[in-house]
Formats: sequence, structure tokens, C-alpha cells
Amino acid sequence: MDFNFNDTQRALQDTARKFARDVIRPKAAHYDETAQFPKDLISAGYELGLINMTLPPELGGTGLSHLEQAIVAEELAWGCSGVATSMIANDLALLPILLAGTEEQKRKFAAPLAQSLKLASFALTEPGAGSDVAGMSTIARRDGSDYVINGSKCFITNGEYAEQYSLFATMDRAKRHQGMLCLVIEGRPKGLTVGRHENKMGQRASNTVTLTFEDVRVPVENRIGAEGDGFRIAMETLDNSRPLNAQFAVGIARAALEHSIEYAAQRQQFGKPIREFQAIQFMVADMAKDIQAARLLAYHSAWMLDAGQRNTLVSSYAKCFAADMAMRVTTDAVQVYGGYGYIKEFPVEKLMRDAKLIQIYEGTSQIQRLVIARELFR
Ligand SMILES: Cc1cc2nc3c(=O)[nH]c(=O)nc-3n(C[C@H](O)[C@H](O)[C@H](O)COP(=O)(O)OP(=O)(O)OC[C@H]3O[C@@H](n4cnc5c(N)ncnc54)[C@H](O)[C@@H]3O)c2cc1C
Repeated sequence: MDFNFNDTQRALQDTARKFARDVIRPKAAHYDETAQFPKDLISAGYELGLINMTLPPELGGTGLSHLEQAIVAEELAWGCSGVATSMIANDLALLPILLAGTEEQKRKFAAPLAQSLKLASFALTEPGAGSDVAGMSTIARRDGSDYVINGSKCFITNGEYAEQYSLFATMDRAKRHQGMLCLVIEGRPKGLTVGRHENKMGQRASNTVTLTFEDVRVPVENRIGAEGDGFRIAMETLDNSRPLNAQFAVGIARAALEHSIEYAAQRQQFGKPIREFQAIQFMVADMAKDIQAARLLAYHSAWMLDAGQRNTLVSSYAKCFAADMAMRVTTDAVQVYGGYGYIKEFPVEKLMRDAKLIQIYEGTSQIQRLVIARELFR
């Protein structure tokens, strides 16, 4: 086992780190405050090849390994996890196509994302079906050479700006897991309405909307996989994206650790810097060890994908541990700052708000434990 990065990985980390420090960080507070969409940052990230990381070279992408994507994900989230979530959304939308699409579908729906900046969204969650994915009610009814879609999706990242959607729907609610299918929606077909941008607690730079489908027609050739494959495709997509979510948590927590160390050196109480108090030292020590443990779990779960191994169990370890870790670490960072930690002028309260989302999206921490338990009891 070799824990060293090779030259390519080091160069990639360096590029992503500089981008996060020089381009994302200076604007992070502005986008958090205004909740505007960071189009300029996304364009700049696209130019550097930090978007569509999962696209293979034969489709015009950079074809980064899963481990390399995880390395980049940590750096982007260190800069601002809201921006990182927006930047990674294309990969989430691409995964169903890359995992289950035909060669022709990959050329038609995936390759164009490498040719010019074009955003895509992954549309799975519904108002009545979040954790219970198979309980979805967005219906796809076959009508000649089309499917006709009716229903709604909520919390869709980048949905307002997306030009393509990887949509999951059911053909028969009673069939639950077996009744689902995945379709690619191109552009804004008639009957698709985009709702207002949600006013969120954290990761406010990411765009989050509801999508409503009223008799939206989608050609049958846009179906990814077979009818009934939708649930499997969605779960495989999430297996692939969990290492990146875990690394988002690591990036947020690393930022909180760095701020805490810096502040603890400056802040004086009882005539000395607060870093001289063991209570502060132990909080910082716990932060650092848990961040490293989460990072190694995330790397392991990414490495398993690169080795062609099923990573469901380890990626759930990684996502669950890292998300809960980031919530703890950012809460402790606010504690290290004392009252100033609670004030928006200081950087750590944003990190605490941002971290919360990692425990919720792409499978809550409870659902990750459910996956882990299911895998263990299989
Ligand atoms: C900002 C943001 C961006 C998002 N982006 C996307 C996106 O791009 N695409 C997309 O499809 N979705 C997206 N989501 C949706 C996200 O994945 C869901 O919110 C998440 O899966 C949880 O679903 P829910 O909100 O319906 O919560 P619920 O499923 O209603 O859960 C509520 C609570 O009950 C718990 N719970 C539920 N079932 C169980 C169980 N069986 N055992 C134990 N506890 C349980 C949950 O852990 C949670 O604590 C996003 C969400 C947010 C907030």
C-alpha cells in the first residue's frame, strides 16, 4: 500500500488548491450572502478542467480517476462547498449516462458537456420521496415513441441553469424499485417548469429548485438502460458520488481546523493565547485526527472504484463518517472562536451551516447507516 501521490495527482491537487485559494475563496462570502449563482467561478473551473471530471478522454473529458476526483473535491470544498456542489453537479448528472448508457447515448448526451460549458442536473428527489426513493410518484407513461412525464422533483441542484436533466420516474408505483426508469431530458421541453431558488441555510452558492413536469414528452431513445433499471442506476450513481461527498466534508472541516489553529494563536484570554489551554488543544487534536480518518475512508472508497470493486459499504462508511465529522468539527470551530464564532464577519459559522448539508443530501447519515447495516447483515 502506497500513500504517496504520484506527480500527476500532486499537480492536480496543486491546481485545484490554487483555484480554491485564489478564485473561489475571495468570492465565497459574497455568494453566501447573496445566494447568487457563481457562474463566473463555474466558468473558470470549467476552463481548468475541474468540471465533468468523470468524463473519459474518448468523450472529450479529462478522465480523472475516482481517487483524483476525490483529491480535487476536497480542495474545491475547502474554497467553498456551495460552489463545489455546483461544480460537481454535472458529474452527478453524467454518471447515469456513463454507467448505463449506450455508446451512442454517451456521445449524444455526455460528450457535449466537454465541448462547451453546459450544466446538467440529477433529478431523483421528490416532495414525497426523499430517502424512500422507490416511493416516487413522478409517472412516465409510454405513448408511441415517447414517454409522457407528469410529477415534480425537488431540491434539484443547478436545476434553474441546467440544459439537461438525468430524470428518474416510475412507470408503475406499485412495482416500487422494479418500476423505475431513467431518462435524459434535453433543454426545456414544453411542460417543464422550474420553480424558485430555495433560500437555504448553507451552501447558498448552489442553486436548488423544484421541477414540475406536466405532460412532458421525452423520446424513448432518451431512456438510459431498460425500463425497470432506474433504481439500480440511481444507486450505482450514488455509490460513485459518495467518495466525493465525503471529501467535501473533509474540505469543509479542514478549513475549520485551519481557522481554529490560527485564531487560537491570536486570541488572548487570562493573559495568554487560548491555544495554551488544554481544552482548546484537545478540541483541535480531535478535529485533526477525525479529518484524517475521514479522508482515508474517502480515498479508500474512491480507490475501490478505480480497482473495479463494489464500494457500497465503504463509500457509506466514508460519507456517513465524514459528514458527521464535519458537523462536529465545524461546531467545535465555532466553539474555539467563542462569541466571534457566532458572528457572520468571522469565517467559521458559514462552515457550520455548509457542513450540515453533507449529512442530508445524497443519502442522509441515517440512510448511510441503513445501507451499512444492510450490507453487514446480507
Ligand atoms: C441543498 C440540497 C441539494 C440537493 N440536491 C439534490 C439533487 O441535485 N438531486 C436530487 O435528486 N436530490 C437532491 N437533494 C435531495 C436530498 O438528496 C434529500 O433531501 C435527501 O435524500 C433526504 O430526503 P428528504 O429531504 O425527503 O428527507 P426524508 O427522507 O423525509 O428524511 C427526513 C428524516 O427522516 C430520516 N429517515 C428517513 N427514512 C429513514 C429510515 N428508513 N430510517 C431512519 N431514518 C430515516 C432521514 O434521515 C431524515 O433525518 C438535495 C437536497 C438539498 C437540501
